[in-house]
Amino acid sequence: MLRYSTYITFICLFFSFSLQAEQEIRIAIGKPSTQLTLKGSGLSALSTDGKNLAKQDTITLSADASGIVVNGKKSGSSTVNITSPGFIFVDGNQYRNALEIKWQLVSGTSQLVLIHAIPLETYVVGIVSSEVPHSWPLEALKAQAIAARTYAIWQKFRRLDKSYHMESSVLDQVYGGAQKEHSLAEQAAQQTKGQVLTYDNKPIQAYFHATCGGQTESAQEAWGSNLPYLPGSKCGYCKTARQYHWTYSISKKNLRRALKSVFSDDISHIKIIQHTKSDRAKLMEISHRKQKKQISATSFRELLGYNNIRSTLIDKISFGWLDVTFTGRGHGHGVGMCQWGAMGLAKAGFTADKILERYYPGAEIRQLY
Ligand SMILES: [Zn+2]
Repeated sequence: MLRYSTYITFICLFFSFSLQAEQEIRIAIGKPSTQLTLKGSGLSALSTDGKNLAKQDTITLSADASGIVVNGKKSGSSTVNITSPGFIFVDGNQYRNALEIKWQLVSGTSQLVLIHAIPLETYVVGIVSSEVPHSWPLEALKAQAIAARTYAIWQKFRRLDKSYHMESSVLDQVYGGAQKEHSLAEQAAQQTKGQVLTYDNKPIQAYFHATCGGQTESAQEAWGSNLPYLPGSKCGYCKTARQYHWTYSISKKNLRRALKSVFSDDISHIKIIQHTKSDRAKLMEISHRKQKKQISATSFRELLGYNNIRSTLIDKISFGWLDVTFTGRGHGHGVGMCQWGAMGLAKAGFTADKILERYYPGAEIRQLY
């Protein structure tokens, strides 16, 4: 629960936000690293006071104890801006015009954080393009655009004092750079420009996931957050998703290795001992002879890999001679909008606002700018 003063600040910020047409979102690209190579035609590296540090088509930056090193020369700066008349290429992705590199010291190690600052609406186009296929109906893309814009604004308010607002992975929203953009996503962003989901005059925590597997999860069950607009509800429109049913087999040897931080013995049995209301696994028990250990299903999923155990909606765990096989439904945490469900609803004739109403009941769409 927000403290009262924080709540007032939040409301004020939210409404002052609405007075500005163009907002900027700062995205951290990739994970912090010790070295970065940026490519592009006519790149310039500039210090924060505008000093030209390098002008080349390839610029290499590294972190040492004193700050950022640009093409082998110490810059004496903890922030370097890279500008380009066109695109800047990093690890196969492309970004428009400008990137910012920040130096930070974490547990005694110097690191570089790559930050891309872009207008919110450009960001929404990027997210819709990266999150959902362009072959989906426009109303599903519009629902995704409103959810993504809302989520970005909510994160921006939470991290106003940080050097970036969003990460570019599934932990936040997948931002794949400018090369992923498609025209239908642009259309979806344009037709919903400035629209945000609100509850109690605040932007909501508009979580979404790939496929719920039949029933979405409440925020309370998933994370202990009491959010009335995320109660979990029946979906029933995502059956065509590839991951609606999933199976994952792992050798007993690798299973033991994956779980060694919580269970050091052989593993002869794993069972679900507690379920959530949406029938997802909540608490699991790993055992061998008299040894038993309980673990939350979310930790279990993390240890085995989010792309292996695709959801906590686990239907069956079978122990074979050498392998263990898990079968389940859905992909993702299951909270908020089911993306494949949104697609199914749009195909059935539902408009974006009706799709959102189904996954975020009680939330209201407001025009912020
Ligand atoms: Zn669903």
